[in-house]
Amino acid sequence: MEIKVTLTDHPKQKPDENNLGFGHIFTDHMFLMDYDDGQGWHDPRVVPYGPIPMDPACSCLHYAQEVFEGMKAYRTADGKIQFFRPGQNFKRLNTSCERLVIPKMDEELLMEGLKRLVTIEKDWVPSAPDTSLYIRPFIVATQAVLGVHPSAHYVYCVILSPSGAYYAGGIDPVKIYVETKYVRAASQGGMGAYKTGGNYAASLIAQEEAERQGYSQVLWLDAVERKYVEEVGSMNVFFKIDGEIVTPELDGSILPGITRKSVIQLLRSWGMNVSERKLSIDELESAAKAGKLEEAWGTGTAAVISPIGELKCGDTVTVINEGRIGEISQKLYDTITDIQWGRIPDPFGWITPCC
Ligand SMILES: *Cc1c(COP(=O)(O)O)cnc(C)c1O
Repeated sequence: MEIKVTLTDHPKQKPDENNLGFGHIFTDHMFLMDYDDGQGWHDPRVVPYGPIPMDPACSCLHYAQEVFEGMKAYRTADGKIQFFRPGQNFKRLNTSCERLVIPKMDEELLMEGLKRLVTIEKDWVPSAPDTSLYIRPFIVATQAVLGVHPSAHYVYCVILSPSGAYYAGGIDPVKIYVETKYVRAASQGGMGAYKTGGNYAASLIAQEEAERQGYSQVLWLDAVERKYVEEVGSMNVFFKIDGEIVTPELDGSILPGITRKSVIQLLRSWGMNVSERKLSIDELESAAKAGKLEEAWGTGTAAVISPIGELKCGDTVTVINEGRIGEISQKLYDTITDIQWGRIPDPFGWITPCC
């Protein structure tokens, strides 16, 4: 399919690279593609960034038929631009589509569209240390009908946002609030394993309570017993207990993170044991009491590695590694970011060059 390009005649001024923050500055162009029953996905195109006309009856606005992805483009020291495992994001997008009954997409076309868009916007990829271009592909159901059934029309869109260094003030471990009342996603059969806006809508109330109590993120427990650790906000979670590295198994309620997968691969390549298994909050608390909870960290595209310095569950506060970043967290962060920004060779085939 040919990708049509319409360039803006009002390019914006580029922002100050040292003050980008996250998610509020958008580039000059976006990628769009439409789906209509009978016609399939059609009209892939790059157009000036702007509002998407939408009927107020569009089903995404009422019934949340929506999926999204999140990834980044990185500028290397020699000025080139590259992606980290973008094929994994498109594969996961299709998995999410399947669950939400959105017609599947041609992953090669998505990759071609992404390269085309980012190449056009290459001057928007910042080069200050640890900055990147955040990429947000998403699909919304756009049929104007209030009946509850899968939409007959969809829009696929990719927007780009230059984003600042996540750890501008150095890597600071986060304090985590363990949620015991609300759940993010039902266990098997729900939508927890898919990247869809509804999961985030369900999470806001707990996030607000955590912040009220002085914690920056929520650790979710399983929906059935409120006992087993699932994930943190928009990150998967890892613990080092008495030498064993443990992360919750992908049981259908946890988002299969690409950073999670990369961390497991990396740890195993270093000869370390990683167990994907059930892990209860009780096990964590007793390990901590016995002095055996050595490290904890979250993994996700935004932060890469987010060390956890404190967990609060009910009245029990657990401090991990004296609130400092652990050795493995640091080594993982350094290695993955070195690969992403092209500072060391990529032995895993994780990097896709753009332009
Ligand atoms: C996106 C996301 C993650 C992390 O996935 P990455 O591919 O590593 O960025 C973890 N949990 C949730 C709920 C997410 O939406």
